[in-house]
Amino acid sequence: MNMKKVVIIGAGFGGLTAAKILAKYDFDITIIDKTNHHVFQPLLYQVATTALSPADIATPIRSVFSENKNVKVLLGEVHSINRETRKVLFNGSKIDFDYLIVATGSRHSYFGKNEWEKFAPGLKTMNDALKIREKILLSLEAAEKESDPVKRQKYLNFVIIGGGPTGVELAGAISEIVNKNVIPDFRNITASMTKVYLIEAMPKILSSYPDKLSSYAAGELKKLGVEVILNEKVTEINHHGVRVGDKFIESNNILWAAGNQASPLIISLNTEIDRGGRAVVKDDLSIKEDENIFIIGDAAAVKNKSGEYLPAIAPVAMQQGRYVAKIIAKNSAGNSRIAFKYNDKGTMATIGKAKAVGVVKGIKLSGLIAWLAWSFIHIAYLIGFRNRLRVMVEWMWYYITNRPGIRLIVKYTEDQQIKS
Ligand SMILES: Cc1cc2nc3c(=O)[nH]c(=O)nc-3n(C[C@H](O)[C@H](O)[C@H](O)COP(=O)(O)OP(=O)(O)OC[C@H]3O[C@@H](n4cnc5c(N)ncnc54)[C@H](O)[C@@H]3O)c2cc1C
Repeated sequence: MNMKKVVIIGAGFGGLTAAKILAKYDFDITIIDKTNHHVFQPLLYQVATTALSPADIATPIRSVFSENKNVKVLLGEVHSINRETRKVLFNGSKIDFDYLIVATGSRHSYFGKNEWEKFAPGLKTMNDALKIREKILLSLEAAEKESDPVKRQKYLNFVIIGGGPTGVELAGAISEIVNKNVIPDFRNITASMTKVYLIEAMPKILSSYPDKLSSYAAGELKKLGVEVILNEKVTEINHHGVRVGDKFIESNNILWAAGNQASPLIISLNTEIDRGGRAVVKDDLSIKEDENIFIIGDAAAVKNKSGEYLPAIAPVAMQQGRYVAKIIAKNSAGNSRIAFKYNDKGTMATIGKAKAVGVVKGIKLSGLIAWLAWSFIHIAYLIGFRNRLRVMVEWMWYYITNRPGIRLIVKYTEDQQIKS
C-alpha cells in the first residue's frame, strides 16, 4: 500500500507533538529541522545564565523517533514551499507531500531596526543562549581586569529590553545567579558594582498578566536590585550601550526580549500573513488556498472566540499539533472539520529563586507556590526521563549550594572578545 506522505517542517513544540501522534499511524512521515535537536525554549534563559547546560533542555529529534520506522528525520533549512507542485525545497533537495505541517516558530523582531541585533542579541535558540552566556561570562572577565571604574561599569551593566516573561526571567536570573553566585568567585568586582536594567515600553511589565501579579513581579525584581524602567522606548542601541528616554546606559550586555516575527518561510507559501509575518489560517489551521497545508504554533495567527490572538506559548503550539495530527489521521475533508479550540490552562513566569507568578485555570498565584507549580510543570513537559532527572538534580544542587555549575567559556574566538 502506498502510504500518504506527511512532511513536518520544524520539530519544536508544535511539530514534535504532531509527529509523535502521526507516527502511530500508517503515514510516510518526514520531519525537517534546521537543527538536530528539539529545544525546551522556556528554560533557555537558564542556559544563558549558567544555571543549566544545553544537554539538559535539548533532545536529538532523531532519538525521539528511533522506534518509529515510518518517520524520517532530515537536517536542513527549508527555503521555500511550492503549493502548486506540492514540494518542499531545502538544501538543494525537493520533497513531495500530501499533507504539510509548517511549525517553524518565530524569531526576534527589531521593529525594522535590524542593525540592533548584533549589539542586542535575542534568545530563541540554543545557539542564542550559548552566545549570551559567553557574552556575560566574558564581560565579567573583562571587568575583573579593568582598573578604570568608568570603563569597568560598562561590563557590569546588564540591560534587558522587553518586560514580557522572557525579559523578566532573564533580569531576575542575571541579578540572582550572576550577582549572588558567580561574582563572589572574582576578586576585583563585587555584586554591588553590577546594575541590571529592565526596560519596558508599556506602563507595566508582564503586560498580559493581571495588574496585581505585574506589580508583584516588579516589586520582587526591585528587591533583587533590578531597575525597572517603564513607559520608555529604546531609541538607539550601539556598540556603547542603549538610549532610553533621555538616558544613555553604557553596556556591553544588552539583551533583546521585545518582539517576535514569524519565520520568513511563511512568505513563500503566498498566503495571507499578518503584521507579525504569521499565516492567517482558517479555523481548522489550514491555509485558505489548500486544506491539507497547516500552519501551527508561533507561525500561525489564530484568534479565540473573543477575537483575541492566541498567545505565542508552548501549550498553544502543542494543542494545535495534536489537533492537526488528528485531522490528518482521520483524513477528514475540510468542510467536515470541527474548528480548533484552545484550552487555556494558564501562563507562568519566574522571577528568581523560589519566586514566580502565574494564572492557572483563572487562579492567580505568586511567590513560592507559583514557583513550585512552575517547576513541576516544566519538569513534566521536558522531553525524556534523562533530561527531567538532570534538570531536577541541577536545580537541587543549585538551590542547596547556591552554586550554578555551567560557567565554561568554550568558544573564545577573536570575534567574541570584548572590544572596549
Ligand atoms: C526564551 C523563551 C522562553 C519562553 N518561555 C515560555 C514559557 O515559559 N511558557 C510557554 O508556554 N512558552 C514559552 N515560550 C514560547 C514557546 O517556546 C513557543 O511558543 C513555542 O516554542 C512555539 O512552538 P512552535 O512549534 O511554533 O515553534 P518552535 O518551538 O520555536 O520550533 C520551531 C522549529 O522549527 C525549526 N525551523 C525554523 N525554521 C525552519 C526552516 N526554515 N527549516 C527547517 N526548520 C526550521 C526550528 O529549528 C525549531 O526547531 C518561550 C519562548 C522563548 C524563546
